[in-house]
Amino acid sequence: MTTARTFSEFEGTLSAPEPSERKCGRCKEPMQHQLWTSRDEGYEDSKFTCPAGHVEWVDGLDS
Ligand SMILES: [Zn+2]
Repeated sequence: MTTARTFSEFEGTLSAPEPSERKCGRCKEPMQHQLWTSRDEGYEDSKFTCPAGHVEWVDGLDS
C-alpha cells in the first residue's frame, strides 16, 4: 500500500475520540484516537490528535 495518498476527513466519518497509548511524535503528549471510515466503507484509518493539535494518520489495519 502506498503512503502517498491524500487524506480527506470530508470523504468519510470520524468516530468519537477515545484515549490511546500513542504519544505525539512532536510533543510526546498522549494522543486521542479516532477511527476514520471512508464514505463507501472501503477502508479505515486511524487519526490521532494530541492536545496541542498535532495530527498523525495511521493506516487502519495493523498486520
Ligand atoms: Zn503534539
